[in-house]
Amino acid sequence: MKYILPVLAIVFLAFASQPSEAVEVLHNYNSMKDDTEELASQYPDIAIYSEHASSTGLGLEIFSVDVALNITELTEEELAALPTMYVDGAHHGNEGMSAEAAFLFLQDVLERSAADPSYLEGKRLVVTPVMNADGYFQDCRNNWNGVDLNRNYPYMWGMYGTSDTRGSCPASGTYRGPSEGSEAETQANMELMRGMNLYVYFSGHTGSNDIVLPWKITGEFAVPILDWELYENFLNESTNVSGLTYRDPSGAGESIAWGYGARTAVSVIVEVDTMQWSPILPDGSIREALTNELLMYDLAWENLELFGGHLEIVDENSNSVTVKNIGWGAAYNVTAGSGIIEKIDIGEMTKLSKNSNVLKYNRLIQQGEKEGLTEVTVNLTIITDINGETTPSISFIPITASLLVVAMLRRRNDRFN
Ligand SMILES: [Zn+2]
Repeated sequence: MKYILPVLAIVFLAFASQPSEAVEVLHNYNSMKDDTEELASQYPDIAIYSEHASSTGLGLEIFSVDVALNITELTEEELAALPTMYVDGAHHGNEGMSAEAAFLFLQDVLERSAADPSYLEGKRLVVTPVMNADGYFQDCRNNWNGVDLNRNYPYMWGMYGTSDTRGSCPASGTYRGPSEGSEAETQANMELMRGMNLYVYFSGHTGSNDIVLPWKITGEFAVPILDWELYENFLNESTNVSGLTYRDPSGAGESIAWGYGARTAVSVIVEVDTMQWSPILPDGSIREALTNELLMYDLAWENLELFGGHLEIVDENSNSVTVKNIGWGAAYNVTAGSGIIEKIDIGEMTKLSKNSNVLKYNRLIQQGEKEGLTEVTVNLTIITDINGETTPSISFIPITASLLVVAMLRRRNDRFN
């Protein structure tokens, strides 16, 4: 049964071996892997391709591309600290257009960043086109164990909309797995995401062509999204460019529930198309079909630092610092070493008294699985020395260094004269 669909697809493709211009064939597992590796290799200064895990049944590689400026020169810590957007596709192996969307977005960011490095400056993109490699290889929703990977994540696992019965291929199912996070693919994605300072997580799917929230916020099993104001601002901006509306998810234990609940990223499913199972796009190009969704991906990338409170320094002296929140959400627990301001609203300007050269705040309300996930630290530019006099800290080190060089040159000159 597992091999019937691929065989049908091959027979179909044989008949359609000379497609008209109106028909475009989607990637398969091998061509997606090869094209992704080839794409990354064209940008060695900013992209690293890696195969970091294997699928459950066929042992196929789960591959990702990591993108940042001068990426080969960054330490692991430096890379992990960069504000990050993560895009994946094909948790459901029969939803090929979601892998196409991830691939095209990666291609766009690489092309634009190579032409203009400021497009990439200060942030990181990670893309995994195919989460469920076995399912994608077979055009099957579930993984090799019959588990719906998008019901297997350990956040609200099994709360609603899941099945306790193993699914079969190609029939769809919502088997949550024997225990939370039981599957190799789920664990691989969690491990990857734990290495990121995650601001935004888009998980690609197909079927309904809309946006899905991390968990239900209406009806039975509803749980409030603590950062709803931020979500709503982003969703409004997003709807403006993509035309996509949003809704509650149909099941619990989804990757996006873990993405927001445990890793504090604004996480949504992007249902990029209604098409499932088909190896071809019957009409038009893949890129054309994904135009609106790619605009939404671009919007998130280009405004990444605004996902949460984002404090801009307006004015600073030795005793105080004035900040303005230009983010899409409020900033929380703001301090410059002298007292804590609980909340600075969107657009609000506030003067803080200062007893430190560091400004600290939380971008979100949601805490996540580990302390400090949403903490932002900004070095202030004016420092106070022991005599109570202020000096701009940026020029402090160069001045000291140049004085040292002058002193050393003098000593050398003394010796040789
Ligand atoms: Zn799906």
